[in-house]
Amino acid sequence: MAEYPKCRRTSWHDADRWADSLADRIRASGHNPETLVALTRGGWVPARLLADRLKLKRLVSLRAQHWGVTATPSGAAEITEGLSGPVRGQDVLIVDDITDTGESLSLALEHVQNAGARRVETATCLHITHSKFLPTYVAEEIDRDDWVWVVFPWNYWEDLATLGRRAFDEVHSVPEALRLLKDRAGLEVPLEDLEQVLDGRRAPG
Ligand code: AMP
Repeated sequence: MAEYPKCRRTSWHDADRWADSLADRIRASGHNPETLVALTRGGWVPARLLADRLKLKRLVSLRAQHWGVTATPSGAAEITEGLSGPVRGQDVLIVDDITDTGESLSLALEHVQNAGARRVETATCLHITHSKFLPTYVAEEIDRDDWVWVVFPWNYWEDLATLGRRAFDEVHSVPEALRLLKDRAGLEVPLEDLEQVLDGRRAPG
């Protein structure tokens, strides 16, 4: 029997709420970062939403990788693409969607410090309390005992393709796969969404 992570599907409304909360916390700290570093890929949308709220024009990218397939950590995290712009002498805020192992953000911090940033802080929408790295700003905490795979709206089709194909391969029927996703992964999706990933119209793989 295939394994399924316990999932929590989140919405664009959640993303807005997290960005509001992070912006409030950053403002309340009195800190005014000059440059946002978005950890790709999960940090891109949160960083853009934060740039809007903090009126920040400078947004650069950094790629860290280790969660290969949905809910499957693939070894140690590494920086696989460097900063898309200079940060030397800058006051920087690194943004990601979630800290789970915390490895990506921890590596990113070291990378940005080594690139000569004057000050570096970090922010994530969600933080799982077993993470070895504690971001400076967190919008919402998830207790370590309540670990879930968070299906972010910016990763919806990819996550659904991975888990949906796994379910379909087990039961060979779309309605059955839909039920299996709900019962075993806690993931409720419309039937037509599952059909779209199975017939390759979305997130072909
Ligand atoms: P980590 O280095 O383990 O803190 O996480 C690195 C990246 O993997 C995060 O930025 C997310 O994009 C993804 N990720 C890790 N854990 C989860 C999770 N529980 N739910 C959704 N995405 C996750």
